[in-house]
Amino acid sequence: MNIALIAHDEKKSELISFAEEHKEAFAKHTLFATGTTGKRVHEQTGLPIHCFKSGPLGGDQEIGAGIARKEIDLVFFFRDPLTVQPHEPDVSALVRLCDVYTVPLATNIGTARILVDSLNEEEIGEKAGEA
Ligand code: PGA
Repeated sequence: MNIALIAHDEKKSELISFAEEHKEAFAKHTLFATGTTGKRVHEQTGLPIHCFKSGPLGGDQEIGAGIARKEIDLVFFFRDPLTVQPHEPDVSALVRLCDVYTVPLATNIGTARILVDSLNEEEIGEKAGEA
């Protein structure tokens, strides 16, 4: 499964700890990320990650393009709901494309904990697509 990881600055520590905690599960899949998130998760966990540009410089849109091409199966996007983001239109577009293509999306750690438990179920993408 192809998985995208993204975290706004205030949520990066949370996503890094989450990735570390679930390293074994993530290691079985192909990981993609926005630039800074991917670099920091890789430094902490050693997991191989394909890094796109930094989110505010187009990385969110690159991941969105991957979703539109049906190359991304699952997204963990830890959003910071309390800070204005300069690239909010890109953030909204990414979330919208997840809905267009019925890609499962965790925008907070509560949902992420539930989704990560499904990582070993190879059919998760198919299930989502059936909706
Ligand atoms: P970053 O981008 O991983 O490059 O910081 C995340 C974002 O803010 O979209």
